[in-house]
Amino acid sequence: MKQNSQRRVHFQSGLLCLFAVALLLSLSSCTGNSATKTTEGETTSPPIEKAVQETQETANEKAKEMTDEINKDVNEAIDKIEKIVKTEAEWKAQLNSLEYKVLRKKGTERAFTGAYWDNKKDGVYKCRACELPLFASETKYRSGTGWPSFYKPVDDKSVGEKEDRSLFSVRTEVICNRCDSHLGHVFSDGPPPTGLRYCINSVSLKFEEKE
Ligand SMILES: [Zn+2]
Repeated sequence: MKQNSQRRVHFQSGLLCLFAVALLLSLSSCTGNSATKTTEGETTSPPIEKAVQETQETANEKAKEMTDEINKDVNEAIDKIEKIVKTEAEWKAQLNSLEYKVLRKKGTERAFTGAYWDNKKDGVYKCRACELPLFASETKYRSGTGWPSFYKPVDDKSVGEKEDRSLFSVRTEVICNRCDSHLGHVFSDGPPPTGLRYCINSVSLKFEEKE
């Protein structure tokens, strides 16, 4: 009897062991399931990454569109300045001798002799040769040099700059960006906000008073 009961105990503890193993297995399979869930969680993350990537791509596309639009505007503005090319004979026929000498031969009018060095009226100064707007009265200032002086052009695209090595010095020549006529020089001793002095011949300009 005693042996039988011992066997029963053994049998029962064996069952318990089996039950415990089964429980452990089931637990581990649960853990496995939770791992699978994690994996599933991970499988859900690529769509998020994809969404982020798509958002980034859309932002990049929008930025590119904006840049293209800005470039298009700038290019269109530059395109509007169509170069005017004329023969020397044509320029001579169009301009008087002083205008021709200054505009086409890089001459300089005598200080305090031009029409605009002391002009205080509001308006726009255009190129005498092609009438492209070059300077505005708002940027004109009294430099005391005897030539009309401005601290900036009406638009950066309207005037061009060239290195001028004449008169034993290096100066920066300012030209009209449409007809390449000589306007004057730009120096770095101007007033704020640019610190530039566009020293321009009156004879290179044509003033149009603001009404
Ligand atoms: Zn011009």
